[in-house]
Parts: sequence; C-alpha cells; structure tokens
Amino acid sequence: MSTAESERTAAKRREALKQVYEQAKGCVRCPELAATRKTVVFGAGNANADLMFIGEAPGATEDEQGVPFVGRAGKLLETLLGEIGLQRSEVFIANTLMCRPPGNRDPLPLEIDNCHEYLLQKVELIEPTVICTLGNFSTKLLRGDPTGITRLHGQPEVLTLGHRAVHLYPIFHPAAALYTPRMLETLREDFGRLPQLLAQGAPEQPVLEEVPQRDDPQALAESSVSTPQQAAAEPHAAPPDEPDQLGLF
Ligand code: URA
Repeated sequence: MSTAESERTAAKRREALKQVYEQAKGCVRCPELAATRKTVVFGAGNANADLMFIGEAPGATEDEQGVPFVGRAGKLLETLLGEIGLQRSEVFIANTLMCRPPGNRDPLPLEIDNCHEYLLQKVELIEPTVICTLGNFSTKLLRGDPTGITRLHGQPEVLTLGHRAVHLYPIFHPAAALYTPRMLETLREDFGRLPQLLAQGAPEQPVLEEVPQRDDPQALAESSVSTPQQAAAEPHAAPPDEPDQLGLF
C-alpha cells in the first residue's frame, strides 16, 4: 500500500471509530455505571495501530479525564512501551469496560457483556495484528475461557475475533506489577517478546462470506458483531453534548 493510500485508510478508520464513539458516549446499558461515571472512557490512541492493549476498567483518574491508563498503571505501561521502542501514540488502548465501576469494584459479568459489542467494533475497525490483554478480565473475555493470567501470560496464540484472526498475547496487568518486583520483572520479559510478535504481521485470516468494504467507513461503523443478548439489548441513548475525548492520532 502506498503512503497516500495508507493515510486515507487511517483517516477512514478514525472517522468510523468516531461514529462508534458517538454512540458509546451516551450508553446507558449498565444503569449503575451510567449513573455513577463521569465519562465514558471509549479508548484512545492510533486508529491504525498494529498493537492494541485491552485492560480492565477505568479508574478514578481515567474517569476524570476520559482517557484510559493515565494513572500510575498507565505510566508504567508507557515506560514498558518505551523500553521496546514504542510510544503510546503508536498503539491503541481500550478496556473491557468503558465506565468506572463504583469504588473500583470488579466488573460484573453483565457489564462486561454489555460492553463487549463496543470492544469488538473497535477491534474490527482498527484491525490490530496483536492484541495484548492486560490481566485476567480481558484475557478471560477474549478467550471465552476461565483460565487465569498466571497460567497464560507471555504465550501468544491465534484467536479469531469477529471477522479477523489476531495474535492474542496475554500479559500481567501493570497495576498488579506496581508493587510486586517479581511480577514487574515477568511483565518486562513478556513485553520484550512483543516486537518479535509484531514483526510476524497478521496471522492467516479466516475465509469470510461478507465483510463491509474497508473504504466504506459508514458500513464499518454500522457492522456490529454482537452476542445474542446484545442483539436483544435496548438501543443506545442519544449522545449528550460532550467535548471530544477520543484522543485519536
Ligand atoms: N486499569 C485499567 O485496567 N484500565 C485503565 O484504564 C486504568 C487502569
């Protein structure tokens, strides 16, 4: 792909992501979260990223700023990225939940389920080649299996999500490594294998029946990959007037 073509593709991805964001920022699927959050933390970063991180849920700082991983765990994530020669602006960062659970409690299964469609839409639009799940919640969600991060971390596997196959790479959540030097060492080692995984490019893709054309952002934004429960869910509320916090590059 020429540079000009690649720039056009990136711009279209940004546009399509913005459309999903417009729907997401007024979401009221989880009444308790909608009532207690300050912002919907949609996710931020490079819409054209090869590498996507998926954490757990926004904390207090993220809820204030509307941007994921801006607290202490986020600073560690940025440091580890820097150590492998990457900047935050080169990756896309999202969470299993877009809203902060009150008191930072664990996300509930129904909340994870309610948010799953949005997460899959982000993956469909960004088309990362590697998805790094941070900790147990996103790892279990994407693998659809209760095996924990302690058993799985640092072992890439090919996973089909929606229409695409990606390299899934589960690693420890940076928040867990903040106070545990041995876990930080392991996280750093696992991070060290990321460049090699990225260099492999996308895994072989499944044969598809019908996929929206990449040059049709409207079709991409509208292409939802939903579970049966989500298909039956209430439509989204109209988005309120809020400043743009998407932070797309
Ligand atoms: N922890 C997460 O899982 N996500 C954030 O955005 C911040 C902290």
